[in-house]
Amino acid sequence: MKYAIIVPDGAADLPIDELGGKTPLQAAVTPNMDWIASHGKCGQVRNVPQGMYPGSDVALLSVMGYDPRQYYTGRAPLEAAAQGLKVDPDEWIFRCNLVTIIDGVMEDHSAGHITTEEGAAIVADLNKLLGGPNVKFFTGVSYRHLLTFRANCDVTTTPPHDILGKKAAPYLPTGAGADLLRAMIDTSRRMLENHDVNVVRRDLGENPATSIWLWGQGKMPQLPTFIERFGLRGASITAVDLIRGLSKLIGWESIEVPGATGYIDTNYAGKGQAAIEAIDRVDVVLVHVEAPDETGHNADVKAKVQAISDIDKYVVGPILKRLQAEGDQWRILVLPDHPTPCSVRTHTAEPVPFAIAGLRIAGVVQEPFSETTAANSDLKISHGHELMEFFLRAH
Ligand SMILES: [Zn+2]
Repeated sequence: MKYAIIVPDGAADLPIDELGGKTPLQAAVTPNMDWIASHGKCGQVRNVPQGMYPGSDVALLSVMGYDPRQYYTGRAPLEAAAQGLKVDPDEWIFRCNLVTIIDGVMEDHSAGHITTEEGAAIVADLNKLLGGPNVKFFTGVSYRHLLTFRANCDVTTTPPHDILGKKAAPYLPTGAGADLLRAMIDTSRRMLENHDVNVVRRDLGENPATSIWLWGQGKMPQLPTFIERFGLRGASITAVDLIRGLSKLIGWESIEVPGATGYIDTNYAGKGQAAIEAIDRVDVVLVHVEAPDETGHNADVKAKVQAISDIDKYVVGPILKRLQAEGDQWRILVLPDHPTPCSVRTHTAEPVPFAIAGLRIAGVVQEPFSETTAANSDLKISHGHELMEFFLRAH
């Protein structure tokens, strides 16, 4: 058996006036998704458990068959996994942003999208000043770095992009162990005041990195591998680090596609082609396409419709054709991880539509793939991680 899963990130939406009351999924040209929904089943699934933050990482854990309530520990550990960092189970991992704070106000969560070289120079100096057996900084990309920290710690932190234009001090880490983190942030502030990198950046009129900001913490999640859980080999194709990290943690092959950008200029056809090649090697292939989510954040309705049409044509279509060449020994699943409605401009935790077709998945109602078809379906899965079990095992 071969299985393919296609995730158009954030594709689910609400009816939009500009589209004559249709959703982007309904307005897009999606003959392949519609074929799957009408020859197979269309249902509704809740990927974000009640009370959890509707991040793509949380929702994708569900999509991959793992209960986020049990396995999600935070964002930074997934980034560490994506980078292949070796972290002990008792170490905390924090995202360490380089930020611009001026007169106490969080002006820029990215320090002017500082270059990776500049970031690396700062991280090296942070390690000289603060590093030791229990504290280590790791260079990432641009302003996005990581800290591992071994200490008793139970803190609340805030993402810096959530407090732009606000006084930063009230959002510094609080809770047990927060004093150590605050001391590190304080030291970074003093070290960066007249740092060479910032002297140059100020001369060029760029935002300086005035401080580190620590958030997104967690310990490395201990996930049973996909082989252990389902006895099947998997691979994923994504441009997004968090999802790359999740894949590595469950033992999936992580396939890099040139030109996969995470936006509407992404190499759709390249992703489709990479999936087709992967189907020869592994049992389960997951293709994640970020573009519909980004267009939802930008409230760009036209671009969202186009992104969904392109995914149907260049990713779903070729994969479906490749599977059909297997005879009847295959199944395909299409679902967004969460909605990113253009009117809301961010993720919501609402259930999403899914469509599933293939071996022994009999069609019931001949309706196209949409939020409405899903809402009217009897097939409702309230714990997202159970959909994988259904997809792989239903008969
Ligand atoms: Zn997402």
